[in-house]
Amino acid sequence: MNGMITEIERFALNDGPGIRTVVFFKGCNMNCAWCHNPETIRPSRELHYYAAKCIGCYKCVYACPSKAHKRINNEHRYFPNLCIKCGKCAEVCYANAMAVSGTKVSVEDVMNEIRQDKAYYENSGGGVTLSGGEILCQLEFAEALTDACHEESIPVGLETNLNFPWEKISPLIGKADLIMCDLKLDDTEEHKRWTGTGNEQIKENIRKLSESGKAFLVRTPLIPGATDSDENIRQISGFLAGVVQGSGFLYYELLNFNPLGDTKYQSLRKANPFANAKPLPRERVLELKELAGEAGITVRTE
Ligand code: SF4
Ligand code: SF4
Repeated sequence: MNGMITEIERFALNDGPGIRTVVFFKGCNMNCAWCHNPETIRPSRELHYYAAKCIGCYKCVYACPSKAHKRINNEHRYFPNLCIKCGKCAEVCYANAMAVSGTKVSVEDVMNEIRQDKAYYENSGGGVTLSGGEILCQLEFAEALTDACHEESIPVGLETNLNFPWEKISPLIGKADLIMCDLKLDDTEEHKRWTGTGNEQIKENIRKLSESGKAFLVRTPLIPGATDSDENIRQISGFLAGVVQGSGFLYYELLNFNPLGDTKYQSLRKANPFANAKPLPRERVLELKELAGEAGITVRTE
């Protein structure tokens, strides 16, 4: 069983309890305007070009089979429309100006990485988190990885948008030790405007998750001008209060805007609508936390 991933991050502390290894799947069925991992949205391989890192060594010009790199007037030029994504330029670019996102890996390849930190998971109450992108876009691979981790007694958390039919995803959800899902906007039209899809299925799945008794938490990224209104946070916390009573719900978490994705957008030549946006001031995050808490649910911030 193979899957397409962008990265395996070891010693992660923000993607579930304890010390974790996070496997980032490539491919997503939503298209959030503020995504800080834009390289995980498309399911296929992509090439990043970090122009500021280029030292003009021209090794890529000789390595590229499709002449996508050229030396013109003693300057390096990259022509992405000619690229066939073979990755040869990234292999010879010691300045890391060229980088590939998207590696085909087997379950065993990933397990070889995961096993290295088993002692850390045991000592910290951590484990593995499957993230993305959207893990449900590679459902069989996610299930196979979850099974492989469990065979070695390694807990598995899933970060997912839950935007799939419940019948399809419930076997995987049932296997996981923890579900971390987002509800970004309460209003479905606004959700569609900012992410490309409505939120009816997500809300329905949060209801089903509550009924299942599975341990889960819900997050809202605080995106300036998109998700950070009093009204949105009040409505989401009200919705959660209405459905999570007596379930395995752990807490509602507000995540401040992460502006670190902009260089990735530039390297992929993608427009970034939030290039100039800044994280919310701490006082505003705390204000929203208090407001959400009025619904009577446990609320956390970073
Ligand atoms: S190999 Fe890298 S550093 Fe050298 S010219 Fe190509 S992109 Fe620039
Ligand atoms: S990935 Fe391959 S085809 Fe694309 S620019 Fe690099 S060497 Fe050329």
